[in-house]
Parts: sequence; C-alpha cells; structure tokens
Amino acid sequence: MKTRPGEGDIQYLKGVGPVRAALLAKLDLFRIEDLLFYFPRAWQDRRLKKEKSSSLLQSADVFLGTVLESSELYTSTSLRIFKAVLAEGQLRLEGAFFKRHNRRFDVFSGLKKDFKKGERIWLVGKLEDDFFSPKMRVEEYYLSRDLSAELKHINRIVPVYPVTEGLTQKFMRETVFRALSGRPASARGFLPGNLEKKRSLPGREESLKRIHFPGNVSELEGARKRFVYEELFLLALAWAVKKRQSREISKDFGYRVKKTLLTPFRENLGFEFTGAQKKAINEIFSDMLAAKPMARLLQGDVGSGKTVAALSACLLAAENGRQCAFMAPTEILAGQHFFTFKKFLKGLPVRFELLTSGTPAKKKKEILGKAAKGEIDILIGTHSLIEGAVSFKNLSLIVIDEQHRFGVRQRAALRRKGEKADMLIMTATPIPRTLFLSLYGDLDLSTLDEMPPGRKPVETARVPEKEAFEKTAGYLSRGLKAYMVYPVIEESSAELKSVKEEYEKIRDRFGGIPVYMMHGKMKAAEKQRTMEAFSSPGPGALVATQVIEVGIDVPEACVMVIQNAERFGLASLHQLRGRVGRGEHESACFLVSENPGEEALERIKAMCSTNSGFELSEKDAYLRGIGEILGVRQHGDMEFRIASLYEDREIFAQALADRDELLKRDPFLSLPENGELKKELFEIYGTRWNIIDLN
Ligand code: ADP
Ligand code: MG
Repeated sequence: MKTRPGEGDIQYLKGVGPVRAALLAKLDLFRIEDLLFYFPRAWQDRRLKKEKSSSLLQSADVFLGTVLESSELYTSTSLRIFKAVLAEGQLRLEGAFFKRHNRRFDVFSGLKKDFKKGERIWLVGKLEDDFFSPKMRVEEYYLSRDLSAELKHINRIVPVYPVTEGLTQKFMRETVFRALSGRPASARGFLPGNLEKKRSLPGREESLKRIHFPGNVSELEGARKRFVYEELFLLALAWAVKKRQSREISKDFGYRVKKTLLTPFRENLGFEFTGAQKKAINEIFSDMLAAKPMARLLQGDVGSGKTVAALSACLLAAENGRQCAFMAPTEILAGQHFFTFKKFLKGLPVRFELLTSGTPAKKKKEILGKAAKGEIDILIGTHSLIEGAVSFKNLSLIVIDEQHRFGVRQRAALRRKGEKADMLIMTATPIPRTLFLSLYGDLDLSTLDEMPPGRKPVETARVPEKEAFEKTAGYLSRGLKAYMVYPVIEESSAELKSVKEEYEKIRDRFGGIPVYMMHGKMKAAEKQRTMEAFSSPGPGALVATQVIEVGIDVPEACVMVIQNAERFGLASLHQLRGRVGRGEHESACFLVSENPGEEALERIKAMCSTNSGFELSEKDAYLRGIGEILGVRQHGDMEFRIASLYEDREIFAQALADRDELLKRDPFLSLPENGELKKELFEIYGTRWNIIDLN
C-alpha cells in the first residue's frame, strides 16, 4: 500500500507544507497514499435535512441563513466577541464567535468581510437552549456561494479524524479530499473477487471515497464494511500462516517425565488437583513432550488455580535440567508468585529467584550471573525478564501470567526471543471464542472450568458506603482481612475518592487494626513490604487502587469494598472480586456507587447476579468493555485502521470462515487469483509478526 520513497510525499500536497507535514508525520502519515487509508474515527452529520440516524453518525447543529446584522463586543477581559444575527424565514439565530484580543491586528477582520448584510452563510456549532432567541457558539462557517464547501465541509456527512495538536478537522478534510481527487483509478485491491461477491462488498475505489465522504448512511455502511472485512480477513489469514509456521519449528531439546520433583511437589501441596487442573496439566505436558514448541493459553476464572498448573510445567522443565522464565504483569504479582513458590517448593531441590526493578544491584548481578550459568531453574519477574539483558543458559519454558495485560505486539516480540522455547500463557479474563481467535488465533487453548472444592460464592451487593464500613469492621473484628479499592491515587475531583485521602481517614477507624496503603506510585520494595505485612497473620485492611486487580492471593482476605464502582469495567470488577473468597471463610464484595449511570448500573447488576467469570463474559457490558480494551486505535498493539473486535464480531466470524475455505482450496496462496492477497499479507504482517513464508 505504501508508495516508493520520494514519490507522493505528503509535504508537496497543496496546502500542506513542511510544518504541517511534520505534524502529519506524528500520525504516521508520510505519503499521499497514507492519507487515503487514514480512516475517520467517526462521522458527523452536517446535513440540513437529516436522514435516518445511525450509530456511526454524530450529530451537529447546522444553520443556513441570511445575515441581518453583526457587531463586535468587548469584554472586560482580553476576550473579543463577534456576534451576527442570521435569519431564515421566521427564524432568527444569533451566532457568536470568541477570540483572544490581539494588539497588533483586528482578530475579526475576516469575519467582518464575510458577514455582510444579505450574505447567505452556513453555521456549524453548538446551539444553546434559549427559548426567545436561539444562540449558537459557532465553530465553523461557510459562505453559501462557495459551492465547493458542500463537497467537503457542510450540508453533508463529514469525516472526523483522529488528530494531533495543531491540525484541525477542517484542514484534514481539505487535505484528504485533495488527495482523493488527485488519485488515479488504481487496481482493485487484494481481495479475491469471489469473496467480494459472496459478502456483497462494494468496490474498493468507491469505498475509499465513501469512507471519507459518504453521500448517505448506506454508502458509509457499505464502505466501512468493506474495509473492516479487509482488515479482519487479513488478520485471520496472518494468524493461520503464523500458526503453520510455528508448527514447523522443532525444539532442540526433549523432556522425560522423571517425577523426581513432580511427585514430591504433589505430595507437599496439601490438596488434590481438580479434574480440570489434571486435564490442563496433561495437555501442557503432552505439548512439552512433543517436538514442536508449545504455544498454549491457559484460561481459567480467578481463583481456579492456574498457578500450580503452571508451576507443574516449570517442574517438568527443571527435572530435565532446563530453565524457566515466569513472568507477571506487575511487580507485586511477581513478588507474590515468589512467595507462593517458596511455600510449595519447600524442601525441594529447585533453584528459583525473583528479579524485579526493586532487586538491589548486587543481588541483581548475582542473579544474572547464575541465570547465565544455568544455576537458576525458575526465574520469576516482570516482562523485563526477557526484554532486558537477562541471558539464560538453556531457557526452555516461558510462562506469562495474566496475559491480557500484555499486547499482541509484545507477545510477538517474546515469541521471537524464544522461538524454540515452550510458551504457556495464562489469563483470567475469559474471552468469547471469536475474540479469542482474533487475539490468540495462533494458540491452543486449555480451560480450567472447575473451581477448587470448598469455595463459597462471594456474596456481592451494592450498599451505601456507611454500611460497607460497618460490615467490613465486623469481618475485621473476627480477625479477617479486607481490601478497600479506590479509583484514583490522589484527589482529582469531587466525585472520585482517592487512596491517599481515604487512607488518612480510615487508618484509625478500625480501632487499632492495622491499615495499609498500596498504589502504583510506590517503590517496588515498599510494595513488597506492604504486601508481606498485609499477608502476615491477623486482621488488616489494605487501601489500594486497581493495582491489586491481578493475581494477588491472600486467603484470609474475605472482604472487597469497591468505591466509585461505576468507574470500573465489568472485567475489572470481577478480577477485583476474585481477590476474596480464596480461603475457607465466607466472603463478601461490596460495591459502593452513589449514582451510577445506566451502563454502570448494568455492570453492577451483572456482578450481583453471578460469581462466574464465564457467565459474565457473555454479557453485553463485558463484551463492550473488552472491545474497548482491545478495540480500535486506543490499543496501539492491534493497529486496526477501522475494525472493532466487539462491534464487528459478525464480520469477523465471516472472515474466519472465508479464510478456512480459501486455505483449504489454496493452502499456499499459489493460485494467481490470490497473488495480490499474498503480497498484501507479507507487506502488512511480514515484519510485524515475523512471518517468513508460506511453505
Ligand atoms: P488463579 O487461577 O486466579 O491464578 P491461583 O493459582 O492463585 O488462582 O489459585 C487460587 C488459590 O487456590 C491459591 O491459594 C491456590 O493455592 C489454591 N488452589 C489451587 N488449586 C487448588 C486445589 N486443587 N485445591 C485447593 N486449593 C487450590
Ligand atoms: Mg493467578
């Protein structure tokens, strides 16, 4: 899709120039071609007569009228106001423009020239409700005799682009419009013709025009569908090829199940594996014993016992004299795992260490030396373990906990580091199958669909803050522990409670029972100390932010109070709740929310209705949240130009089915009709995902 260097440079497009070219470069826009495929993030309906509405359209207030009079107002501040009264039939509207005063020139000279009595002018902006005389704060205006304005700016659906400071939407519209009109009709793109027909996709050339400047809603929907399909189809294809490619690699090591570590570990555990754990461990082991590297996702609800399953895998490697890296998304969680390992590996000849940014330099050096010499079996840490300077003598297993915190790109980088190592990835955020395929399409899946025995459901309720405190005090007085989660670290607005502020208020509230504080801005060592203190025997409360969302495991903790619950997504609420109900005690989760909006209330109700993450994952509110997390451009890793995994899940399902059919017919994309497709695949995913070749 990119053109050759030196050709089609954006800077030479009329109206751009070097300064704006530099701003466009910040958006990764260098060539005219890039602009054409810089899709809007939304569309605004600026038509006088609106058609049916569509979720794709934002509305705008538009007025066309004849100028009756205009005047300039001076305020006591340095602000200047220009007002114009326009008439259309019986209707009068006062439009206002605001500008900062400038000593050196008349800030409204242009407006004065344009707003002549009798001139017909379009106004776009925000209408203010005023019964007697409607007023508008004007954002843009266009002279009605300037007919070209109706091609791109007014009385039509206009594109809204993601921009950066210094670039206006108007400039973007002008520039994209110019790029489109200078475009020679080119090839039809890379989709095989039969798929275009099968999915009734409009042609590529017209879709390209319509995605920016649609004539109506159905043109917009058609064009959008085309590009969403293109994007998702290519993604689906890339996964399939990547998967095939990794299947062809062979490990340069092999294992035997010796049980020298596994058996004593099992005997030490103090509990039996659940059926689901046994099944998952079997799947993991058979992957590890196979010739090709394992790439497996272990999915299981919070508290289903993923850690010991992963630890079993580490021990199989260690029994065979091979090394493992065990990575967690946060330092707290890495520390927690270290703690857990200490407990479960007591007395076993396994060498394991914790490496985080908080590890003292001397200790760090020692650990690095040992890892390189093969004197550490399991190295626990954050992802810096394999991104950084750590070298292993014979790294054979990479375990990644709470995978949803890592992006696709990061994972691809990991994969590159350890092409031949086995990889086990864990997540407690269940994902529906199509989403799973799009995110982890190259992975095999094991699921822990059973909880360890004796778990009592966490009683979940929405209660007023006062009641939450009283109930918490009750638990604490029985020697138990509680988490109290707040949305922000420091006070930022009146509506949001903050950790620091509330900590000060709460610390004396429970009559001598220790209260701790934990948030992301604390130093690693401090977090570690706090966690250890909180985990030590006896009652205690931990006032924290969402940092404790993942992985924390303190069995005596049995109350979770979530303040400003409306601020959290469903997946997060469920993760937080998963921090309690881990021991033999009755547990509770209290959601405090003074006035949740409609959507927040939907989430809170969903939480109160079930304890199962898998059930929650079927709910719209959950999917929407996941879609947002993994969605379009906000999530740098996915780099979708236009598709949204949640909104477009049906198109995605079609793309997956079409891909399978295509690969069945033409497994190596060697038919001429698929030549363009193959080229595009390597252009987009070749380096990004390290896809080498098809055969
Ligand atoms: P998650 O899947 O959320 O990572 P963990 O691995 O932290 O869950 O396990 C949650 C708790 O359950 C831990 O305290 C762990 O020791 C315990 N556990 C794991 N498996 C079993 C089992 N089969 N029987 C009883 N307790 C178990
Ligand atoms: Mg876990």
